[in-house]
Amino acid sequence: FQRIMSSSSAAITLSNGVKMPVIGLGTWQSSPAEVIAAVKASVKAGYRLIDTAAVYQNEEAIGTAIKELVEEGVVKREELFVTTKAWTHELAPGKLEGGLRASLKKLQLEYVDLYLAHMPTAFNDDMSQHVASPVEDVWRQFDAVYKTGLAKSVGVSNWNNEQIGRALALGLTPIHNSQVELHLYFPQHEHVDFCKAHNISVTSYATLGSPGRVNFTLPTGQKLDWAPAPSDLEDKNVVALAEKNKKTPAQVLLRYALDRGLAIIPKSVNISRIEENFNVFDFTISQEGIAKLEESKISQRLFLQDFMAGHPEDAFANERK
Ligand code: NAP
Repeated sequence: FQRIMSSSSAAITLSNGVKMPVIGLGTWQSSPAEVIAAVKASVKAGYRLIDTAAVYQNEEAIGTAIKELVEEGVVKREELFVTTKAWTHELAPGKLEGGLRASLKKLQLEYVDLYLAHMPTAFNDDMSQHVASPVEDVWRQFDAVYKTGLAKSVGVSNWNNEQIGRALALGLTPIHNSQVELHLYFPQHEHVDFCKAHNISVTSYATLGSPGRVNFTLPTGQKLDWAPAPSDLEDKNVVALAEKNKKTPAQVLLRYALDRGLAIIPKSVNISRIEENFNVFDFTISQEGIAKLEESKISQRLFLQDFMAGHPEDAFANERK
């Protein structure tokens, strides 16, 4: 896929010809009140992609922010690229189109630009039971919703290469995008090479190392256990490169992913950081610079998605101890 690089128009052309902006606003853990201000600030700063998901419970607020931005004449709907994701119960047989329609209603939109299978694993509504729907069946549902036009592009998230291969082998609508955990300390070279070979664009999530992940609280009030992990933002080579380029460590981590040909969706609800994270078009990191950054050889997945353990489509089964 072709790439154009300059602020708001910087985009990746997907295999169906749709242009996907290279930088989007992440919104996991952004509360409805926070996300309205964040979306507005991001669009005013030049962002054109907003990344949400049914499970983030902020689609309605994002819809409100978009509606107001369009009404105020700041941006046109067709200039925006909205990504949302089907949660695990929506992947169960017969549930996907209803899931997409429910998201569209909350977003107050006629279509989304990208609809992703948030996970490869289907569950029942309260996630108390696995639904043993193979990824082939999940992808058949994505093929069907793509053909309705309610989603301009379709893709997957947290799927492994083997699962993607099985979906592609069906010969239906291709997978346009794969959204995966990807950052300096989990660089995902194999996955990126695999996707390039199959003309699938890749979006990096947790590009900053997701420093806020430890605050995540389930609707039940329960917190998750996160294994200790080194901080990408404090990496000594990142800090050195930031000083050399008069940039911040966050900007270096974001530029690292852009210079690998990836899309990024940094999350912030802080207006100055939202602007900082978009201000990455005036420098690049060379191939040697990338190699230097990767000298640490750290490769530690932060998001093991433990709820998938034991499911027949657990994407990370061979990484669990
Ligand atoms: P991230 O973007 O790597 O990091 C976000 C965290 O970094 C927040 O705590 C934010 O705090 C802070 N931050 C933002 N900009 C900063 C800066 N310039 N300097 C220092 N700290 C900064 O992590 P993420 O939110 O986990 O991932 C990004 C997005 O990817 C998510 O929001 C979501 O849209 C998506 N995602 C998808 C999946 C999936 O399964 N598909 C999983 C995880 C995430 P403040 O808000 O306080 O600025």
